Amino acid sequence: MKLLILGNGQLGQMLAQSSIQLGHECLLVNTRTNKVMPAGAHVPLSLSIEEAMQWADIVSWEHEQLDPDHVALAAAKLLTDADKIRPLTHRQLEKKMCDDLGIPTAPWQSFQTADQFSQALQTWQEPVVIKAAFGGYDGKSQWRWNPQSTSAQTEAAALERSAGLQAGIIESMIPFSKEMSIVGARAKDGRILCYPLVENVHTNGILSHTFAGFEHIDERLQATAEEAFRRITEHLGYVGTLAIEFFVVGEGDTAELLVNEIAPRVHNSGHWSLSGCNASQFDLHIRSLTNMPFPELAVQPTLMLNAIGCAQIPAELWQDSRAQAFWYGKDSRPGRKVGHVNMRISSRPDAEALCKHWTPSLQVLS
Ligand code: ATP
Ligand code: MG
Ligand code: MG
Repeated sequence: MKLLILGNGQLGQMLAQSSIQLGHECLLVNTRTNKVMPAGAHVPLSLSIEEAMQWADIVSWEHEQLDPDHVALAAAKLLTDADKIRPLTHRQLEKKMCDDLGIPTAPWQSFQTADQFSQALQTWQEPVVIKAAFGGYDGKSQWRWNPQSTSAQTEAAALERSAGLQAGIIESMIPFSKEMSIVGARAKDGRILCYPLVENVHTNGILSHTFAGFEHIDERLQATAEEAFRRITEHLGYVGTLAIEFFVVGEGDTAELLVNEIAPRVHNSGHWSLSGCNASQFDLHIRSLTNMPFPELAVQPTLMLNAIGCAQIPAELWQDSRAQAFWYGKDSRPGRKVGHVNMRISSRPDAEALCKHWTPSLQVLS
């Protein structure tokens, strides 16, 4: 089939690679310039975006922040209704959707104006995270506030200036035991396949690394995560790969999952699957769109280490037989994801030692 992906960043490129492997044709759109691009090159084709939309059988996206003009042009070639996923680009609507579906999230409150924000903030006796309604990613457009701190009043005034500029939410700071995510896919005919839950470690709100497949995942937690996945994707009529980030509260038999956020697309916490599974999250997205069979998943313990703001991936990692390195070919600046390294390691302590060893040279956050 002929696939057109809106977005030609690293996610678009990796989707294109899977499309080719699965026997499809794929073009990408640079959503800033509206130029149509081949996979793996930054040379625009002479095809107009309208012609590319005509050419395609199916249109999909690398990121849910969609341009309404693109949505209008793609029309019925988008297999998921773009209006349905709009709530996932707006924190208030995303939280409300979870509430309506009976899926637990961190306690929250919304605000629309600076006045409402300062009034609402006074009612919180515990540490909170304040998040702008739109546009935050990698921990940007969110602020921490502790009413017990000595400078709470000054901080509140500063927050009011930043958060009060636009609508947002105040959310209880969750003392999670760890963060996990579930990545899965829902095919055009409604079949669903999820990977096991993976563990994610964030530094300053940005994903640092993921541990996948190291330990047996508690069946109850996996079932809860898959049930949330099913409810959300069915509610949205979603076709493709989708990720749900969770906070795990408590441990062992009493552990509970709270949804943090939902990404209706391929997700950084699924990048391990490029090396640690017989089908990657990109394959599952393309298989979902084109209604191809899903495989039985064979997961190998894999560490995914993000390269953030570094100039390059060290030669030693390119040379390590356990490692598969991915470099996105983007200009590097502090805090920007520029690549990742997947390492097939059998023991979790070894994986943790590798993180400690490599994060200082792979990650420049500010
Ligand atoms: P992404 O790049 O994943 O889209 P984002 O900028 O949209 O991230 P969140 O996922 O909301 O932001 O938050 C980033 C990280 O900040 C979380 O993964 C978590 O580590 C921390 N965090 C966010 N909200 C809370 C909370 N309510 N309690 C505790 N930690 C939080
Ligand atoms: Mg987010
Ligand atoms: Mg997140």
